[in-house]
Amino acid sequence: MTATAADAPRVVVVTLGGTIASAGPAGAPVHPTLGARELFDGLAAAAGVSLEVHDLARVPSVEVTLADLAAVAERIGAARDHGAVGAVVVTGTDTLEEAAFALDLLAPPGPVVVTGAMRPPGVPGSDGAANLLAALRVAAAPGAADLGALVVLGDQIHAARYVRKYHTASPASFTSPSLGPLGEVVEGRVRLRARVPALPGLPGRHPEPPFPPVALVSISLDDDGRVVRALGDLGHAGVVVEGVGGGHVPQVLVSVLADLVERGPVVLASRTGAGPVLTSTYGYPGGEVDLLSRGLIPAGSLDARHARVALRVLLAAGASRAQVAAWFAAVEAG
Ligand code: ASP
Repeated sequence: MTATAADAPRVVVVTLGGTIASAGPAGAPVHPTLGARELFDGLAAAAGVSLEVHDLARVPSVEVTLADLAAVAERIGAARDHGAVGAVVVTGTDTLEEAAFALDLLAPPGPVVVTGAMRPPGVPGSDGAANLLAALRVAAAPGAADLGALVVLGDQIHAARYVRKYHTASPASFTSPSLGPLGEVVEGRVRLRARVPALPGLPGRHPEPPFPPVALVSISLDDDGRVVRALGDLGHAGVVVEGVGGGHVPQVLVSVLADLVERGPVVLASRTGAGPVLTSTYGYPGGEVDLLSRGLIPAGSLDARHARVALRVLLAAGASRAQVAAWFAAVEAG
């Protein structure tokens, strides 16, 4: 794709698919078939940038892997080395929050803006082009340079670490319950109103595929614990437990989780969707005080899905249990 002007800032674009890239015969179910060139047609000029385009995949976002995202991060790094000021990554919204956080951890410093759409191209109210244009503007905005990975949808700018998809179909389906959006794009201008501190550096080597498997298990009322018990035989390198409330499980699971801690890091998150895992409030068996005393690692304000991405990346970096715990604590401390 050609530059809009010789001195226009260059943004590297990587596309992976999703609804934003989906099409099909009128009235029929859609599939991700469109590439970067079709998606970004005419948008570089509108945003005042030039584009370097990488059409990496055309898949539903549930098929995207951490290895794919490591490849995206590599492309971004190479483009940065050659003068790109920022990056836009286009993917499906179903797993967009995890993809964005993985890029927060894997991509080199500088703005990475992840976007997608809730409605495919060509339907009334289709949101793809507006999201791409806003994402380009944020990627080229000097104020966004040190905020790590961002998610831009519906003209809102979210920190990758806190954003989540909370509705299956609404065009306004992204929110950051622990913080709110960092800013917005209004009349073509990027307005940042809040900042997040830089993520702590990863201990160990640069993380590369393969990313060790980490199980995510969610606890609910009258949970008899058989899924958690089965984990002992499945060979995961780590586990994320999404406890109820402040980070609680039925007492029948306490010794099972204590056994899992002997095999690898077990991170405790909350299924509530906002607020940190508690650390000093409930002392009953299976309460957070009990679980943390048995070696579970609090996820802080990261939800279980973000925590799972982080744990896989940390394990790929060779982090020890103590380093994993220190990293989660440092994120929470800001
Ligand atoms: N199923 C789509 C995906 O995540 C949904 C979307 O992009 O909005 O690939």
